[in-house]
Amino acid sequence: MPPDETVPLENLTVKELCQRAKAERVKRSEDESMRVRSMDTARPWTGYVVTGEQSGQTYRVALRGLTDGESYCSCPDYRTNRLSACKYILHVQSKVKKRFSAAKLRAPYRPQGDKLKSPGSQAIVTRSLFATARTTRP
Ligand SMILES: [Zn+2]
Repeated sequence: MPPDETVPLENLTVKELCQRAKAERVKRSEDESMRVRSMDTARPWTGYVVTGEQSGQTYRVALRGLTDGESYCSCPDYRTNRLSACKYILHVQSKVKKRFSAAKLRAPYRPQGDKLKSPGSQAIVTRSLFATARTTRP
């Protein structure tokens, strides 16, 4: 349910403020046109390079699921808003929901490759995925 815009901000609880901030980002993720490039089109949970059509800004999203807090984004809003979500993650999530079957979306994120036995190595692979993305740019 969308937040009630008629309630003054000072009357909202922290939870309500967060819901409102999240709803604002959901709206922006739907309204703004973005270019999304997947690092692996066969899987929903992979790295994405997202460019805002208006701002021209490009950010990297590591999509790991549809729950808040599972995925990462390199944009400044994600780093500071404490919502564990941003318009880029939400935008990619909505694309992924249309593109993949329910079964594929239910399957949890699993790191690919044999270097990925320990949880700590995930960041390295994410970085190398993004490095590949940069070098293959036209
Ligand atoms: Zn972001």
